[in-house]
Order: sequence, then structure tokens, then C-alpha cells
Amino acid sequence: MAYDVIIIGGGPAGLSAGLYAARARLSTLIIEKDAFGGQIVTTADVENYPGSMVNPTGPVLIDRMLQQAEGFGAQKVSDKIVEIKVDEKIKVVKGEKDEYKAKAVIVATGAVPRTIGAPGEKELTGRGISYCATCDAAFFEELEVYVVGGGDSAVEEAIYLTKFARKVTIIHRRDELRAAKSIQEKAFKNEKIDFIWDSSITEVKGEGILESFTLKNLKTGEEKEVFPDEDDGTFGIFVFVGYLPATGLFEGILDMEKSYIVTDDNMHTNVEGVFAAGDNRVKSLRQVVTATSDGAIAAVQAEKYIENNFEK
Ligand code: NAP
Repeated sequence: MAYDVIIIGGGPAGLSAGLYAARARLSTLIIEKDAFGGQIVTTADVENYPGSMVNPTGPVLIDRMLQQAEGFGAQKVSDKIVEIKVDEKIKVVKGEKDEYKAKAVIVATGAVPRTIGAPGEKELTGRGISYCATCDAAFFEELEVYVVGGGDSAVEEAIYLTKFARKVTIIHRRDELRAAKSIQEKAFKNEKIDFIWDSSITEVKGEGILESFTLKNLKTGEEKEVFPDEDDGTFGIFVFVGYLPATGLFEGILDMEKSYIVTDDNMHTNVEGVFAAGDNRVKSLRQVVTATSDGAIAAVQAEKYIENNFEK
């Protein structure tokens, strides 16, 4: 059986597409490989989603979106997609568990956190290195943490981390933050936040748990090893240095620019019947509000595409 629409990815873009498609009475399947929600589940307070007067946490917002889409009949499945075939009219989406078919596909695969690329980073992820403050901040109650990055995410998450950590130090590769001025002001006012400018972490070390890192001053070239307080024994590094679009699966199939999927304003890709929505596509602002907007547009366009290309 072929679904009308398959949506790959269960973040805000995918769930919004699911809501709009299901509400248009299209048989709709949302496929997610991990937990539903994408990056937003790592956000403590969603302050800028219009209408959320009492700030919901990322997970609460996602839970509502999922319930709403399911309420209109969207189905969901947990599977990791490994291949997609789009040359026939009915598209085939192959997962590790099963194979799925649909008249239209909406690619809402989002983006994943970029790593700093320091030796030891991979081994110590989850053992002192984290990419998600909401998930891991509580492990660092009364410890010291370092935040790498200078964008909105790094500075906002540093502020959030001060609720748990004894001290938070932002390490940025330049001498000026990229984050919005309003966010910067909050961080500069926060007594628990310190800054190390023009620097990056070049190596992390530890036997099973983070024990030290090497800090390099990018202007002078000077390097030094940083250790935790003796009484603490460990500390945390939270990395927020941007994101990479999760689009590897579509290389050679969908047109891309710097690994982001190219669409027109109506979320059409270069392949008929395949749409992209959310953080994985070329766009100027990657936010929940723009992801949900993309999802809605993609679903409505998928509906039109099906109407025009398939018999009832
Ligand atoms: P971002 O804006 O791309 O910032 C990435 C930061 O990491 C930059 O400061 C960058 O330094 C630094 N960086 C990049 N590669 C690095 C490396 N290899 N080593 C060390 N530092 C590195 O990413 P983001 O903060 O995750 O934000 C992504 C998007 O979401 C943005 O559009 C942002 O506005 C939006 N966002 C908005 C909010 C909000 O409005 N409340 C919250 C979070 C995110 P340079 O500055 O030197 O390039």
C-alpha cells in the first residue's frame, strides 16, 4: 500500500507537515529515527514561538505538536531511513526495519550539532562533553562548565547552564560574540559567566571521564592544559558551534548548496513530488517558527501535487 505522503523526520517541520497533510485527509506517515522533536527538544525555554505566552520547554511543545498531528490521523513509525528511490511516480523509502511507499515525500530531516573536531571529543561525548544543555546540565550541578561557541545557541545555553553549574566560561574563537545583542547583554550581566576570547579547544583528555583539555590562544599560538578543581575531579564542555544538515542520504538525488537542500519558495525540490522543509534546506532563518511554516507549505503543495498527478 502506498501512503499519500511520507514525511521523513519528526521535528517541528515534519510534525507541522504531518498536521497539515493529515488534516487535508491525506494518508500520512511520519518516520523518525530517534525521539520525536529534533533539535528543539534540547531547548529549555522556547521564548520566541509566537503565541507561547508561558514559555513551553522544547519537549512540551513537541509533545503538543505530535498529539495534534496524530489527532488528525497522521501515523508515526520509528525507523532509520537508509535509501530513497524517487525516479518512479510512487516513491520508495527504505528503512532499516521496513520499506515504505508514497505518492509524495517531504524531507524534514533537520540538522545535527557540529563537533569541534578535537582529538578525544568522540570518546568523551556523554562523559563530560555534551551538545545539549537541557539533556545534561543537571549532571554538572555545582561543577564548572565550559561552553564552546559564540552564537545564539552557545550564549543562551550558557545562561541556562548557570542554573546548575558553579561557574560557566564561554570559549569563543574570536573577540566578539555572534549572538543577538539582547542575548549577549543577559550573558554579560550574569555574574556566573566568564569569557575566554580568541581561543579554541584543541584536545580533550580523560580515562572514561573528561579530565582536562588543551586551550589554544589563536592570536598568540600559546597552548595550555586546563584541569578541573581538585575537589571536583571533572568538569563539563558544552559544544554549540552550529549545525550540519542531515542530508547525506539525498546526495546525488536532490540539488544542494553546501549540503543544504535547494527548494523554491513552495518547498519543491528538483524532483517532482519530493519536498523539503525545515533546517535542512537553504534559507535565511532556521527557527521553530520557520520550520513549522515550511512544513505547512510542503504539505499543502504535496496535496496539490497528488491532486494533479494521481487519480482519486
Ligand atoms: P551559529 O549562529 O552558526 O553560531 C555558531 C558559533 O560557533 C559561532 O559563534 C562560530 O564562530 C562558532 N564556531 C563555528 N565553528 C566553530 C569551530 N569549529 N570551533 C569553534 N567555534 C566555532 O549557530 P547557532 O548558535 O547554533 O545558531 C544556529 C541558528 O539558530 C542561528 O540562525 C541562530 O540565530 C538560531 N538560534 C536562535 C535562537 C534564538 O533566537 N533564541 C536560539 C538558538 C539558535 P564565529 O562567530 O567566529 O563564526
